[in-house]
Amino acid sequence: MRRIGTVFAAAWLAGCASLPAHNPLATWAPSPNYDQRRAGLIVLHYTGEGSTAEALRTLRTGNSGGPVSAHYLIGADGHIYQLVADAQRAWHAGPGRWGTLADVNSGSIGIELANDGHAPFAPAQIGSLLRLLGDLTTRLHIPPSQVIGHEDMAPARKIDPGPQFPWQQLADAGFGRWPRAPLLDPPPGFDPWLALQALGYAVDPPPAQRAAVVRAFHHHFRGMEGGWQLDAQDLRVLYTLTRQAPPAAGQ
Ligand SMILES: [Zn+2]
Repeated sequence: MRRIGTVFAAAWLAGCASLPAHNPLATWAPSPNYDQRRAGLIVLHYTGEGSTAEALRTLRTGNSGGPVSAHYLIGADGHIYQLVADAQRAWHAGPGRWGTLADVNSGSIGIELANDGHAPFAPAQIGSLLRLLGDLTTRLHIPPSQVIGHEDMAPARKIDPGPQFPWQQLADAGFGRWPRAPLLDPPPGFDPWLALQALGYAVDPPPAQRAAVVRAFHHHFRGMEGGWQLDAQDLRVLYTLTRQAPPAAGQ
């Protein structure tokens, strides 16, 4: 019994022990020239669950795919919960890519919005989200344009936060990317795939990935469901976005 107890104690310690402050293989010769590693992206989700309580439980345990979490969860009533510290790596993004960021969990803050994927997002919830985005972009120095949806970075796997999410309202408050009117007609030879890539979408083959990118783009920039091919209005939106620099921090 005693031996079994020792084994359990050792396993418990191994599971809970934090990394040593300094590598014992090296001589610690500290430099004052460093700061905290920082996230450079904010990824928005909907929970797809019936209630905030249910989502809280899932984000503190797991779903059918295994353990999951997010840094924040915002209820439909606007209440903001924090589940993981800003400096820690939450498990919200999974495989995918945005621009050059291939390990999105390591480089992002994840925010879940309690929403079943069908109901409109509540005004109180979006109000709290805007306050939280203001806080995070200021305090963590995340560029305000770097706010995307889960489906933007994983279009072949994810559909959240979906076509109902009010991206234009976010842009009006200074977050994310949105084309400012009037929309411009693209010149002959304009390549929409290069423009999508410049925004951050991974447009690599196979073709199925491109179709999924178009769906995510339609959700995000057109607020529409379906449509797996780019149309003339998409090209105007994309060309206009490429001509407009993202808003700088503080604007
Ligand atoms: Zn998600």
